[in-house]
Amino acid sequence: MLNDDQLLRYSRQLMVEEFDLAGQDALAGARVLVVGCGGLASPATLYLAGAGVGELVLADDDAVELSNLHRQVAFRSADVGQSKAEALKAQLLALNPEVSVQAHTLRVDVDWLDREVAAASVVLDCTDNFATRQSINQACVAHRKPLISGAAIRMDGQLAVFDLRQADSACYACVYGDGTDGDLACSQAGIVGPVVGTIGTLQALAAIQVLQSKPLPATLRLFDGRTLSWREMRFHKDPTCPVCSRP
Ligand SMILES: [Zn+2]
Repeated sequence: MLNDDQLLRYSRQLMVEEFDLAGQDALAGARVLVVGCGGLASPATLYLAGAGVGELVLADDDAVELSNLHRQVAFRSADVGQSKAEALKAQLLALNPEVSVQAHTLRVDVDWLDREVAAASVVLDCTDNFATRQSINQACVAHRKPLISGAAIRMDGQLAVFDLRQADSACYACVYGDGTDGDLACSQAGIVGPVVGTIGTLQALAAIQVLQSKPLPATLRLFDGRTLSWREMRFHKDPTCPVCSRP
């Protein structure tokens, strides 16, 4: 049951037919794991905290840098030098003190991911590291947890949704292979802020839909920030995928 303050706080989304009280309850009961606390996680977690997700678990080993601020909109100039996970937690609690937030300043490893993915309702991959993306996917496949993966570089963004609760869903490795090559960091290639913000915002929307049990087929969406246009590709499970099709 929502109290009066909660009814008011969430009133504008509760008015939406596709959202409703049952959807609000689903969010309140959810635990969302967010790996990476930068330009994707900034809008994704602000929207999820604002929407009333019950618990957010944040992980990042970096500190806020001056060169992050143009796109990592959860941070303020005074946060430079602080742990990203802790600084993000502070902003989320300031926005909505009813949300439980755990901040982990660490580089995630396979064991940590296995434990935290198992405990999560949905996983947001907000990293910029291909090896970590593969480890997150492997844990999501093992524990059949929905994975919402975002990426952005220069003027291009990618949003990939894999609802691995469905046994026949494709996984990240079905689409990208299971290699760890291909890292191209924003520090080398550059990134325009609203491009990564667009993808992070849609990660939040996809997470809300997944948590409210709306079916989302395995889809990769490519955003071209030069033309503001999207391309969409559906994916089927790869029967030879080394991650999700192993006997
Ligand atoms: Zn696969």
